Amino acid sequence: MQENKKVLGRIHSLESFGTVDGPGTRFVVFVQGCPMRCAYCHNPDTWEMNSGTLMEPEYIMEQYERNKPFYQNGGGITVTGGEPLMQVDFLIALFTLAKEQGVHTCIDSSGIAFNPDSAALMEKLDHLMTLTDLVMLDIKHIDPIKHKELTSQENTNILKFAEYLNEKHVDMWIRHVVVPGITDDEVYLEKLGYFIGGLSNLKALDVLPYHTMGETKYEKLGMEYKLKGVPPMDKTKLLDKKQAILNGIKKRRAELAK
Ligand code: SF4
Repeated sequence: MQENKKVLGRIHSLESFGTVDGPGTRFVVFVQGCPMRCAYCHNPDTWEMNSGTLMEPEYIMEQYERNKPFYQNGGGITVTGGEPLMQVDFLIALFTLAKEQGVHTCIDSSGIAFNPDSAALMEKLDHLMTLTDLVMLDIKHIDPIKHKELTSQENTNILKFAEYLNEKHVDMWIRHVVVPGITDDEVYLEKLGYFIGGLSNLKALDVLPYHTMGETKYEKLGMEYKLKGVPPMDKTKLLDKKQAILNGIKKRRAELAK
């Protein structure tokens, strides 16, 4: 008799009451492993691909069940990281169980694992998207060169991922962290808005201020913090930064409406 091989997730940690990782109160799964190296990453301990704890999707659903009533305020499960899309098989297994129970599912991703040239991956992603209610996509920089400087990776496939989500009619929230002197140039912010303004699956825009709280983690891990000396983002300027993105969105939508 052949036994089905279990798909295990490589997990960094679990959090029972997340409030910033999607709508409502959420059970948050932090996966282990990320190929990006964002200079402001708060979770450098999730980068390493081969560490973390192996967990079965069933175990994670059991943990969700423990506090289920708390998530019934429009909440659900969010998988974040690390980079969730590095573990597509695990996501499919977990979200299959979640959807059997009518649980709202969300992926918080940088989009870096997207690769339209891989037929095998695309087949899996097509399946995963039928099980996914929301993707929170973090676009770090709209400019390809500045993106690479900030994250060590190119943004071509990340932007293609946003377009793919639009084609698949998967709701998308865009997140953008504003770092003084690095991602706060309003010309680029408007460009970012212009790009996402062309996507009808865009449901929300989250503009977040850079803060320096991650720095101590780097010290503890004995790692170099690349943004040493960069001040936290002045929150009073954040509205203007968001407005620049909104201007880009408006401009694109006006063009599309012609
Ligand atoms: S994509 Fe996320 S987890 Fe990966 S380095 Fe960037 S901020 Fe950190």
